Amino acid sequence: MAFEGLTERLQKTFNNLRRKGKVTEADLRDTMREIRLALLEADVNFQVVKKFVKTVRDQAVGTDILDGLNPAQQIVKLVNDELVKTMGSTDAPLNKSDKIPTIIMMAGLQGAGKTTTTGKLALKLKNEQHARPLLVAADVYRPAAVDQLVQVGERIDVPVYQEGTDANPVDIVRRGLAQAAENKNDYVFIDTAGRLQIDEKLMQELSDIKSLAHPDEILLVVDAMTGQNAVNTAEGFNNQLDITGVVLTKLDGDTRGGAALSIRAVTGKPIKFVGQGEKMEDLDVFHPDRMASRILGMGDMLTLIEKTQRDFDQKQAEEMNQKIRENTFDFNDFVDQLNQVQNMGPMEDIMKMIPGMANNPALQNVNMDPKDMEHMKAVVYSMTPQEREDPDILNPSRRRRIAAGAGRPVVEVNRMIKQFNQMKKMMNQVSKGNFNGLDGMLGK
Ligand code: GDP
Repeated sequence: MAFEGLTERLQKTFNNLRRKGKVTEADLRDTMREIRLALLEADVNFQVVKKFVKTVRDQAVGTDILDGLNPAQQIVKLVNDELVKTMGSTDAPLNKSDKIPTIIMMAGLQGAGKTTTTGKLALKLKNEQHARPLLVAADVYRPAAVDQLVQVGERIDVPVYQEGTDANPVDIVRRGLAQAAENKNDYVFIDTAGRLQIDEKLMQELSDIKSLAHPDEILLVVDAMTGQNAVNTAEGFNNQLDITGVVLTKLDGDTRGGAALSIRAVTGKPIKFVGQGEKMEDLDVFHPDRMASRILGMGDMLTLIEKTQRDFDQKQAEEMNQKIRENTFDFNDFVDQLNQVQNMGPMEDIMKMIPGMANNPALQNVNMDPKDMEHMKAVVYSMTPQEREDPDILNPSRRRRIAAGAGRPVVEVNRMIKQFNQMKKMMNQVSKGNFNGLDGMLGK
């Protein structure tokens, strides 16, 4: 999960600050130093860190927050706002042409995830807009690249235009576009060649393809796990090619998050999507505000709800939302959720999207082993139907009986019921519009 270290450090810094009754100028200086170190440790670009810290400090001093109410919380808010701004403030949607087709040129270094991302994005457009994309295989240098794109096309049931590896890439693109016109494809993805590093010949070829195709979008795919190298790559490609946006891949494996926080500020170009896994469905729109919430450990409930709706049966998801709104979510629903959540990915990552959970002491005690999920289910299965529907009746003797039935210690049953209640309360709050948990942190 991205930003683990940064979240932890920032939360520690803010907790220290909150503990103080009054925040002095020295406290503010210490806090800003901590934030600076936390960002540098997360591999955020040095210049970006410098500007970030200066802006937050200037605002903290300029608005006299030390004398106002809740200075600690106000500093959290300033940091949140600056994080959102650094990552681009608003979502950057995919460019769309007035004419068909919309042409999207995909670029990136070898191994960044260009071919995979091409497939993910084509699938997304197909699913969400009933688009009819064509993929054009213009990477003729890596022998397996054409085959790989063909395989991706088969997986998502999208046609691929290819001429093997003997033709000239610019000619392939020209003929691919002609084919798209003939077949009335509404999107064309050009999968261009990658290299291990930026070189003149590659850039010339990409420029030639750009001049021919006049793409509506030049998306650069960079690997988040390479940190500042990803940022330098983005800068290099942007200088030569004037890209229109970035896709940041492998965010699922990047614990630091420096690239996500630096790319926009360094290149001026927005991150439009993030790749968060190897499956074709694992591509999400990049939302600067939600990412900032996640960095500050305030959860990302909107993404969680969207993920739920995407991965879960739509009808069931709606039923669940209604139950949360009406506060009738019970242990039967809890087990349904556990079953579905098991298909969604690592439990820790999911829980951290829930506001307050990243830093929730109750969560720290839980080792999110798949075995634990089975234990939780065993506990629920040992409840009577009445108990599942009405958890309030779970008195100590019932809890002892349930523990014995499930073969788990009573403390575990108690802990689980407590977590269930916390989760229910939190979900209900979120359904009332308290989305990012910021209100709670600001003491409103
Ligand atoms: P290309 O050389 O840029 O076309 O890269 P590929 O599309 O072949 O991807 C290289 C490797 O990265 C493959 O093993 C992909 O499955 C993997 N990959 C791509 N995107 C992601 C992602 O978002 N998360 C993870 N975990 N792996 C990814």
